[in-house]
Amino acid sequence: MSNIAFIGLGNMGGPMAQNLVKAGHALTVFDLVPAAVQVLVADGAQAAGSAREAVAGADVVISMVPASQHVDALYLGPDGILEHIPTHALVIDCSTIAPQTARKVAQAALARGLDMVDAPVSGGTGGAIAGTLTFIVGGTVAALERARPILEKMGKNIFHAGGAGAGQVAKIANNMLLGVQMAATAEALALGVANGLDPKVLSDIIGKSSGRNWATELYNPWPGVMENVPAAKHYAGGFGVDLMLKDLGLAAEAAMGARAVIPLGELARNLYALHSSQGSGKLDFSSIVNLIKRDAP
Ligand code: NAD
Repeated sequence: MSNIAFIGLGNMGGPMAQNLVKAGHALTVFDLVPAAVQVLVADGAQAAGSAREAVAGADVVISMVPASQHVDALYLGPDGILEHIPTHALVIDCSTIAPQTARKVAQAALARGLDMVDAPVSGGTGGAIAGTLTFIVGGTVAALERARPILEKMGKNIFHAGGAGAGQVAKIANNMLLGVQMAATAEALALGVANGLDPKVLSDIIGKSSGRNWATELYNPWPGVMENVPAAKHYAGGFGVDLMLKDLGLAAEAAMGARAVIPLGELARNLYALHSSQGSGKLDFSSIVNLIKRDAP
């Protein structure tokens, strides 16, 4: 069993770390929010007073923080941990960030003789809790094989997308599709309801028809259609609007850099930006339905 330093214990990192504790690994954890650390301590993890303290003596370092700037600061900033990670350790960053930031940190790690992979995840908080996440890995085959036994304790599917940063490119493409799909699903349901349909009946019909998708199957945005989804809990928890907005911004940057054409991704980015600007940034992204639906006349 490995000594694992786990940094970032939010909606995703918390349950991922819990699954590693359950699998028998020795975890030392750190988050800027003390309450998040205490949850893990109750499960048997050890608390560290700082990220640097967490990585001392680690065989594996895992980070799950919000965005590129957090990963950059965590590893390479003035209090950065990279210089303090034991050189035999494997580094796994599971955050969704810009591919160029992932490559920059991986190169700095390599310069220190450390193996590092970018391993963003798909599957949402439900997948994090159930240990059924999909990991989309960028890095060398050798580093992926070192990471595999750890990732298998948190997920079910492990893909090798390519070299450093490739996991992030694949993840960004997937999340752009997710953002578009959720907004389009909300729009279709709102159209039906505005024309007198029951949202549950319409969802059942779409679920067996050609518009069927991940949102209609597992994450319906309309309240009252599904249990145990953010729409059933006033859009609390889940995957925040601001995180979706960040991912759509990463897609826009990647498109500009490669002269790719993403008209629907750009439209979705603007919809989530408008929704966030109206005070919904911390709600789950399926709350985009509130931007679209109209109250009954
Ligand atoms: P979150 O905001 O719930 O959690 C992030 C945690 O990181 C917070 O607890 C924060 O305090 C901590 N943090 C930030 N900077 C830190 C630092 N320097 N040191 C220690 N802790 C620090 O976010 P989340 O929903 O868990 O998402 C994390 C990442 O996973 C994001 O990149 C997101 O895009 C991605 N993701 C999220 C989901 C989802 O459904 N929530 C799904 C797939 C991928």
